[in-house]
Amino acid sequence: MVDLLKISPQELITFLRENGIRRFHFVYNQSEKKCKPSHEVLQPIADFLNGEDRDYLEHEGIFIQITKEHDVLQGAFVHRTQRGQGAGGTRFWGYNTVEDFLRDGLRLSAGMTHKNALAGLWWGGGKGVIARNSQVDNRDPQVRQAIFQEYGELMTDLRGCYVTAEDVGTTTTDIGNIFATTRFVTCLPLELGGSGNPSTATARGVVRGMEAAVEMLNGSSLSGKTIGVQGMGHVGIQLIQFLFEKNVAQVIACDINPDLVAQAEKEFFGKNLQASVVSKGDNSILETSCDILAPCATGAILTPQSIPNIKAKIICGAANNQLEDAHRDDRLIFERGILYVPDFLVNRMGIVNCSNEQYGYVKNDQFIERHLDQEWEYSIYQKTLKVLKLARENGEPPAHTAIKLADELSILPHPIFGHRGQKIIDSLIKDQWFKS
Ligand code: NAD
Repeated sequence: MVDLLKISPQELITFLRENGIRRFHFVYNQSEKKCKPSHEVLQPIADFLNGEDRDYLEHEGIFIQITKEHDVLQGAFVHRTQRGQGAGGTRFWGYNTVEDFLRDGLRLSAGMTHKNALAGLWWGGGKGVIARNSQVDNRDPQVRQAIFQEYGELMTDLRGCYVTAEDVGTTTTDIGNIFATTRFVTCLPLELGGSGNPSTATARGVVRGMEAAVEMLNGSSLSGKTIGVQGMGHVGIQLIQFLFEKNVAQVIACDINPDLVAQAEKEFFGKNLQASVVSKGDNSILETSCDILAPCATGAILTPQSIPNIKAKIICGAANNQLEDAHRDDRLIFERGILYVPDFLVNRMGIVNCSNEQYGYVKNDQFIERHLDQEWEYSIYQKTLKVLKLARENGEPPAHTAIKLADELSILPHPIFGHRGQKIIDSLIKDQWFKS
């Protein structure tokens, strides 16, 4: 019997076709307290989920389809919907195994539950994951159009228990394609009435998190500090701009893209920026002597290998899922006496922007700006301070505290719609969604 978790997404597609399956799901059964598959032949995957206590956290539903064109595996992971529809972006990425694909969706969707709850949004946690098929040209606009329009169809057929958005590997054009077939999508391009790219707001949020962390260490401001920035993409470059506005002494930054490094050197000419080009997978910036380290590139860079060499006193950046293993690595950083600011506390501005889209636009929107002020109890600054203080009082690592707090907030029912996401999922099962 083939091990369904160890095969590639493309091999799983072959297996599914042989078994006459195009759509399938795993849904948590409250009375039996375990997740159940839509098809008996997929029981080994359900067994894996039920036996998994790190990444599978009683996710309400996992819905997966094979596209009709281009053989692509597309998933919608709905973690928790008490606060509202599961919301989070869709990642378009290459996965070696079905297990990698599932784990990414599970981790990212639970992360969105935590991010949305701590931000005070009336949204639950969800995430989309699409496995790139290396046999097709993923840069071809027509191929992408077909892939993302079919993803929109999946959203429509899930009746709104999950609302998608942009994430790593997807572009505003892809989001426009999803919008062609569903309304359950946010982060739309400006020309379609959306809020566009949120990176500037995200960078401002990271600065707020840094300020709260500095205050925790009895500092008064970022002035005079040295900051290490990994990644000079959309968020990183804006972050550098805001840091210089805060009179930091120096920024040490890197990117794997030489054009971005050259562009930054030009833009910040005359400022104390030390920028370098690094090779893919080079994480040596983490060892830089600096006050604050800001990971703004990829996730899973804080590991048992990298943590012992970190010299910064504070880690606070935008990259999602910076800890390779949330519990293990959070503790390792804590034991080294480094203050770690959990990413999902400070990088919320993307989803904050998206959550407001359907309510129209006003200039200097207070429902967005309050996340960046210093007073509102759910602001990045106040929530970060609260988490860091609580963690100190309890003698525990901050991500641990933040997750506990987020878990408590995430089960508060939506004030108007209650736990409607679960009702939607129940209706999908009753109506045999997988046959649609
Ligand atoms: P981006 O793709 O524009 O920038 C990431 C940059 O990191 C790229 O320029 C890339 O070349 C670089 N990079 C990759 N590996 C590197 C390495 N080893 N060393 C140095 N540079 C490396 O993405 P972004 O929008 O700037 O987002 C950055 C991170 O923040 C991502 O992890 C993203 O998921 C997260 N995030 C972004 C937002 C947002 O509003 N854009 C919101 C929440 C979270």
